[in-house]
Amino acid sequence: MGATGGDCLHTAIGSVIPSQRLRIEGVAAPLIVRRNARAKRISLRVDGGGEAVIVVLPHRARLQDGIEVARTNAGWIAKQLEALPARVPFVDGTALPVLGRMRTICHDPGARAGVREDGDVLRIGGPDGRVALHISAWLKRHARAAIAEAIGRKAVQLGRSPRRIMLRDTRSRWGSCSATGTLSFSWRLVLAPPEVLDYVVAHEMAHMLVHGHGPDFWRLAGDLADDLTTGRVWLKKHGYTLFRYG
Ligand SMILES: [Zn+2]
Repeated sequence: MGATGGDCLHTAIGSVIPSQRLRIEGVAAPLIVRRNARAKRISLRVDGGGEAVIVVLPHRARLQDGIEVARTNAGWIAKQLEALPARVPFVDGTALPVLGRMRTICHDPGARAGVREDGDVLRIGGPDGRVALHISAWLKRHARAAIAEAIGRKAVQLGRSPRRIMLRDTRSRWGSCSATGTLSFSWRLVLAPPEVLDYVVAHEMAHMLVHGHGPDFWRLAGDLADDLTTGRVWLKKHGYTLFRYG
């Protein structure tokens, strides 16, 4: 965001933008300050992936007050960051749970560039600097195929198909359904157990017929999902761990 002054933050009402990135002494992650007109008080949380500490300011609070809250809670923030699971980089030797099946990255710089599946091993050639790129491209392809397959099954049951399927990497949502019939999904779902991806697809497809999250919606989502509860509970409890990959 381009905003740099406190004035800008004061005029951004009703949204969470613009945000400011700051550094606080003793805190290992950048601080992002956002304003939200609906917030009743200053709140503080560590982003699920551990990339940032987020402070939300209500309408009239001063930027300085938000920073102060983060400063006085630096010890708590450090504990939260320490408690996060270790990062899982896409490098040689890393094991990845791809839809519940462990795959190990095996990098051979001398081999042809790109990813080759060899049982549970993902063989990858080409220079070091390209490994992560190739692995994330492979994961995205895998995610797209799994999502398309789940959508195909559920479309028969629902009697309706989305117009378009998109893959994203948003932190706020695992999936979304637009008014124009586009369904969007986080590619990171491919790193969750298969019933999680299935649940998110069922959830967004149910929104093609029912808006909101009332009883009718949950009935339909339950009909479409292989296992509604397991997927939902897993995402609530462990969803943030998916941001530790890559
Ligand atoms: Zn929903």
